[in-house]
Amino acid sequence: MREVTNKPKEQDAPSVEDEPTCTCVPDPFTSLPPELRPRPAPKKSGLRPVVCPGCGKEYLTNRSTDRCFDCE
Ligand SMILES: [Zn+2]
Repeated sequence: MREVTNKPKEQDAPSVEDEPTCTCVPDPFTSLPPELRPRPAPKKSGLRPVVCPGCGKEYLTNRSTDRCFDCE
């Protein structure tokens, strides 16, 4: 009977339960109210936010006209 010599090492990872939440990357806007925080850049999908001149509806479009489908 051979002993298994290369059994996997036990991971002695430090317990993270007692670690405080990492604060090394502070959010500079965390103290600002949501409306003052900068909005994340819109994703590049070919869409652009427009306001329909006909009904004032805000929506995203990838067309050259600002008019929504309802007002066309
Ligand atoms: Zn419209």
